[in-house]
This record gives sequence, structure tokens and C-alpha cells, in this order.
Amino acid sequence: MAKERLYLFDTTLRDGAQTNGVDFTLTDKLAIAGMLDELGIDYVEGGYPGANTTDTELFAHDRGLKTTFTAFGMTRRPGRSASNDPGLAALLEAKADAICFVAKSWDYHVRVALETTTEENIASIRDSVRAAKRKGREVLLDCEHFFDGYKANPQFALACAKAAYDEGARWVVLCDTNGGTLPHEVEKIVGEVVKTIPGSHVAIHAHNDTEQAVANSFAAVRAGARQIQGTLNGLGERCGNANLVSIIPTLKLKPEFAEAFDIGVSDAQLKKLAQVSHALDERLNRAPNRNAPYVGESAFATKAGIHASAIAKDPATYEHVAPGSIGNKRKVLVSEQAGRSNVLAELERIGIKADKDDPRIGRLLEIVKEREAIGYAYETADASFEMLARRTLGKVPNYFDVNQFDVNVEQRNNVKGERVTVTMAVVKVTVGDDNMISAAEGNGPVNALDLALRKDLGKYQKYIAGLKLIDYRVRILNGGTEAVTRVLIESEDEAGERWTTIGVSPNIIDASFQALMDSIIFKLVKSDAPA
Ligand SMILES: [Zn+2]
Repeated sequence: MAKERLYLFDTTLRDGAQTNGVDFTLTDKLAIAGMLDELGIDYVEGGYPGANTTDTELFAHDRGLKTTFTAFGMTRRPGRSASNDPGLAALLEAKADAICFVAKSWDYHVRVALETTTEENIASIRDSVRAAKRKGREVLLDCEHFFDGYKANPQFALACAKAAYDEGARWVVLCDTNGGTLPHEVEKIVGEVVKTIPGSHVAIHAHNDTEQAVANSFAAVRAGARQIQGTLNGLGERCGNANLVSIIPTLKLKPEFAEAFDIGVSDAQLKKLAQVSHALDERLNRAPNRNAPYVGESAFATKAGIHASAIAKDPATYEHVAPGSIGNKRKVLVSEQAGRSNVLAELERIGIKADKDDPRIGRLLEIVKEREAIGYAYETADASFEMLARRTLGKVPNYFDVNQFDVNVEQRNNVKGERVTVTMAVVKVTVGDDNMISAAEGNGPVNALDLALRKDLGKYQKYIAGLKLIDYRVRILNGGTEAVTRVLIESEDEAGERWTTIGVSPNIIDASFQALMDSIIFKLVKSDAPA
């Protein structure tokens, strides 16, 4: 049986740009649009030409993308003609393949927000779709608040959608703008809509306010909708939009959808998904969500010993899909419940050859357990585990010694009489026969220590030049008689590879120092720096 085509529409650059703390530059937008294009997304919505300089510039030139590059904007304003509306004119001039208009479809909003009549709202939809069609654009109509509007007045909500479809809009987009609609309601309402407008022209745009935007998207598809709108990593205001990074692998790997539908993303493109997801976080300077389905670092991580030995025999036993299919990796965690099999599986994964009967394996397991009892968490700090394993198995060169360090925090008045806090760290290091002293100022004690430590490592400096600290997390643990501080540091090198190291101590500077040292030494080992 021939498969039906299901289309994917990405709105990371438009709706996703509404996320608190996200502010895309033109360079960001072009890079993200390029990634989405490479991924095989059918439609990429770039923004709102005329609304700000970034979006106006984005649509000022043909960007040469394979995807249907889409501009977003409003239908003509009430009481104006389509030819006499500057907003609509800017949208029609945009170098875009498609135009997505947004219009009200809830009669209450038409009266209260738009202060116009339902007839004028429908006339505005008709005129705008017609004007864009005349310009040779593919047209979509976003029916704002469609589900709430449909519950309040189904005839009117449907009339808005139908008006666009009758004028030749390729897609009518049913938006759950407030994000509160539940999957069974979406399925029922979309089922009603497709009796009037063919499902091959119906799209779903779900927000995640009940954490069911992905489920709502699939509910709409089950009811007949054939386009899903969403964003990378579920970016979007409030609780986000439907997450395409979860939707795509489900469509590709779950038989219910894979056997019924073709999408624009090939198997080879699917393998880049984890990378695309992480690249977006990188651009936003955020740590990737470890627990993200399919692409998160923990998505295929297993903790208990009994599972680890089963996974070693047959990986499929505890995995719902193959991690490699989305470019992710299997990970066996070393943890408090660790058994020998976990440790052996993890050593194999990180490329350390070990004989399973080697008594040092038992010793390593003991150290892991002792340290986890006082607050270390090796399942998160993979690089610190690797360092511990290499040291226990006698394989880490002594590259350098830190003989002494000193961190000074001072609050005082500067020359302008302003109150300032100045932090400085001094580190004394021995590399081979050379003794070195480095000092650095930082915006806090850990930052100053990090900068001083990495300022001059003599002959090793070239190996750590591209090393940077990208995330720093502190937790106070109340174990035993006194509180201890756990520091986790995430580092990245010039090739974009990331690793996490850990330090635990009653003193936050000591804990940070341990984690920083592990990170630097991990990098030297990884770079095969000579001892
Ligand atoms: Zn939205």
C-alpha cells in the first residue's frame, strides 16, 4: 500500500523566537534555517518581515534553501483594503516561497481583541489569501485559538478555516494557541474539521502547556491532519511548542506512523538529529537537556547492574529504538548499584581494555562505591569516571603538578568611588623541570582559578588552547555530619566534544579545583599529549 505524505513545518525561528531569553541574530537565523534545510524539513518559517530589522533583512534576499521558506504575518487589517495595508504589502514583498497568515478564529477574540465583526474577519481572510495567491505564493492560514474557538462557536471557527481553503490556501493550520487542549479533544475536533476540509490540507500547531503538544500532534494526525508544526527542542513561549526532535523519530521509527507515512527526513538525515538538537542548544548557550527523549545523553543510559549485563548480551532488551538511528549513543551508568558488569561495559565503551578477572576492576568498583557514598556522582561525570578508571588501572601520566594556589576576593571602592568586588587567583605549577606562576582576574573565584590554571601549562598549553568551560553546577549535599559541596563542570573542546567532571569537598573552591583538574587532564589524555 502506498504511503501518504506527511509534512513537517518548523517554526523555531518565529514561534520559537518567543522563548524567554532567546534573541536570534540574523546569523543565528541563517545558520538554524540551514540546519533545518539539511535535516529535510518541508517548511521553515523564518519570521515576520516588517516587524523588526532582523526579519526584514532575512527576507530581503533569496536564501537559496531547498525547503519552502515561509514568511509569517497578519491578514489585512479590518476596515482596510488589501492593497492599502502596509503590513500586508511588506509580507507580499518578502522573498519567501510561502506566506503564513495568522487570523482569529474565535468569535470572542474577533469582538473583544479585534473589535470588528465576524463577517469582516472572514472577508479579511479571503482578501489576504487571494492577494498572496495572486503574488504566486503558497499560502497557509494559522487559525489562532482554533480549538477554544471551536468549542465556543464551531460554525464560526470552521467558517474561518473554510474561507481560506476555498480561496486556495494550501494549508489551514489549527492552532492550540493557549496549549490547554487535551489529545482526545484534538482528535475529536480535527475529526470534525476534516469532514469539511480534506485532511491533506489540515495542519496542527500545538503548544505544550499540558506537556501534551507532541501527543496532540499525533492525535491530529490520527484524525486526518497531514502537516505537523513544531520547533527544535520544543522551543517556544511559556511551556514551548510541539517538539519536532521527538516527533520526527517517532514518525520514522514507530511502525504505526512509519508504515503509513513518508516524511521529508531520510534515514541518513535522521542520524543527524541528535547533533542538530545539540547544535541549537550550543547556539543558545544552554546545556542540552540530558533527559530529552531520543537525543538526550540519558535517553539510552541504564543504571542497574542486572540491566547492564542484559544489555551487553542484547542491546535491544532495554531500548525502544536503536540509539544510533538518531545519532545518539548507548551509555551504561556507573552508579551506587554498580556491578562488575556495568564497570566492564563502561570501560569497553570508553575504549579501555581490561581483563574481566583483573583484580583492579574490583578495586575500581570499591573506589566508585566509596566515593559515591560521600557525594560523587559518576553517572553524570563521565570524564571523571574515565580518569578514575585510568588512574586505578595505572594509565594516566603525571603531566604537571599544582604546588600551590591562592584565591583572593576583595570588595573595595574603585577610583571612581564605586563599590566593586575583585577576584584574583594565583597558581604555582611545575611542568617537567619548569616552575611557573600564573595569575588571573575573574568574575568570581572559580572563574579566576580556572583562568589562572589554564593560562600557562608550558608545553601542554597547545593541547588545552581550545578547551572551554560551558556549564558549572553546584549542589550542597547534606550527607553525614556536615554539608559538602558537589561541583559539576561541563567542558567543550575545539571539536565540539563535551565532557563532565566532578569535585566534592566541604569547600566549594576545593571541589571546583578537583573538577577543573580532571577536565584538563582528561583533555590531555584525549589529545595523546606526551608525558
Ligand atoms: Zn504558536
